[in-house]
Amino acid sequence: MITRLSSLFLRTLREDPVDAEVASHKLLVRAGYIRRAAPGIYTWLPLGLSVLRKVEQIIREEMAAIGAQEVHFPALLPKEPYEVTNRWTEYGEGLFRLQDRKGADYLLAPTHEEMFTLLVKDLYSSYKDLPLAIYQIQNKYRDEARPRAGLLRGREFIMKDSYSFDVDDAGLDASYLAHRGAYLRIFERLGLEVVPVKATAGAMGGSRSEEFLHPTAIGEDTFVRSAGGYAANVEAVTTVAPEPIDYASLPAAVVRDTPDTPTIDTLVDAANRTEPRADRPWTAADTLKNVVLAVTLPTGERQLVIIGVPGDRAVDLKRVEANIGAFLPVGGEIGLEAASEEDLKKNTALVKGYIGPGLSTDEPVLGSEGAAKVLYLVDPRVVPGSSWITGANVDGKHVFGLVAERDFGWDGVIEATEVREGDLAPDGSGPLELARGIEMGHIFQLGRKYAEALDLKVLDQNGKQVVVTMGSYGVGVTRAVAALAEANHDDRGLIWPRNVAPADVHVVAVGRGEEIFSTAAQLAEELSAAGLDVIYDDRPKVSPGVKFGDAELLGVPTILAVGKGLADGVVELKDRRSGEAQNVPVAEAVAAVRAAVAH
Ligand code: ATP
Ligand code: MG
Repeated sequence: MITRLSSLFLRTLREDPVDAEVASHKLLVRAGYIRRAAPGIYTWLPLGLSVLRKVEQIIREEMAAIGAQEVHFPALLPKEPYEVTNRWTEYGEGLFRLQDRKGADYLLAPTHEEMFTLLVKDLYSSYKDLPLAIYQIQNKYRDEARPRAGLLRGREFIMKDSYSFDVDDAGLDASYLAHRGAYLRIFERLGLEVVPVKATAGAMGGSRSEEFLHPTAIGEDTFVRSAGGYAANVEAVTTVAPEPIDYASLPAAVVRDTPDTPTIDTLVDAANRTEPRADRPWTAADTLKNVVLAVTLPTGERQLVIIGVPGDRAVDLKRVEANIGAFLPVGGEIGLEAASEEDLKKNTALVKGYIGPGLSTDEPVLGSEGAAKVLYLVDPRVVPGSSWITGANVDGKHVFGLVAERDFGWDGVIEATEVREGDLAPDGSGPLELARGIEMGHIFQLGRKYAEALDLKVLDQNGKQVVVTMGSYGVGVTRAVAALAEANHDDRGLIWPRNVAPADVHVVAVGRGEEIFSTAAQLAEELSAAGLDVIYDDRPKVSPGVKFGDAELLGVPTILAVGKGLADGVVELKDRRSGEAQNVPVAEAVAAVRAAVAH
């Protein structure tokens, strides 16, 4: 096929769009692949669509290879199924909600678990129908708080989402592993490096879950990896906690006056001055810092939670958010922030700078008499028998040697503290290194949550009704186009990997002579006849500088320039990535391009 630039619906731009921060966004707009329609919402132009379709095709082939079948749901959906699973509420402000002329509620689907579950329920009823894997490549709508970086975080975007249906856990494991394999092959064929990392299941519930992160400095996700092969997103990292300690012989806790020590640093200084240890100085890690957070529940209600962590560790709100769900009265998207002065004032037991454990128990310890019960969670390092310097819930006082379990209890253990470079991997595979990445795909075992909520059952071998177990698997298709552009560019433009490039070769007619144009046209025809996709720059009155500039901006991996060299019977073959150019005789040009393309 030949695409002629004289008639292609394309206008390249010299200036970066003003709202663009990252290279992929700038270049995809400048090279005429996409145009912004509204914040986080994009129009696809012919060249962009061509890349998008190639990405989709690779995904379709790998889905077919594991036996998944393609379907297509509407994006506009009625509220009811999402009410049954409570996601109408849980999705919070991220959901685009609308009404029809009769006032009935609808939504633009952010993801389609409900609809797939109901469709299978509608049509299937026996274990003999399973396993089943179905998928779609569909627009998704999420009113993201911060649409960002062009296609990387859109409010309308394309996702490939698949769902597996099995009668038992072993079946789900097999379906999950099949998808995992397919995802690794998809990203390999796309030429996009990904690291599968352990993830928390988040709002979807379920158990086993992995994200496929593409390592890049502009990524919004932080993940960790060890030299020994452990990889997890920061939310999912579990702390290597010390063993519980026998506290039978530990001395009793004592309360000390520690005026003017509202921060960990001032407290450690004061402790070393007034209560020095014989063996070593006190450090921040000996203190228990009690951080008060305010949670806004999906119902709008504001609730306080105190998290006790070693004083040398900061609380990471993303980790708290990912892990706190189990301790809250209702599920769904929550707001999370440090408690305000007003929050603290409402509960007189919360003495700023001197907060200690005990506020959660029905029998308050130390100065917390009269305290309203506040949810109290601790870091995994707060093991039974560990001994702490911590607030006494009285202004200007701390308690020394307060022993976990003996002197205070907690409502739960939570992974809430920051993960640091050098922390140990939970599987014993060595120290962790931090990296940034973009989430390209996500697979998880949903289990029976949706099937139970929507009553998807089949008859098993013994004629008994059993709840189906499901998996859900997503790839960000438009995000993949952006990530590919991000990973493959230089300061002159895009450099597509062959598998997704909008064409195999970009033929440029440079100069004015009639022979140049007729030879270039002839070569374009021959290349097309040889089965290659050709972009042919046949624009008659455009300068060589502009033509070369556009060829480099557009990013087709092979450029064939027909110009002055023709007088000597040669054309120039250029590799966009390496910049290497060579002259080849006109008669050998087609073979040389084919060799480059096959390479
Ligand atoms: P993120 O953490 O980046 O917001 P997510 O965990 O909400 O993503 P999933 O619900 O797991 O996303 O969706 C599956 C895939 O869809 C993601 O792995 C990602 O590649 C893609 N995706 C999600 N949100 C967006 C978006 N706003 N724009 C483009 N692609 C997205
Ligand atoms: Mg995800």
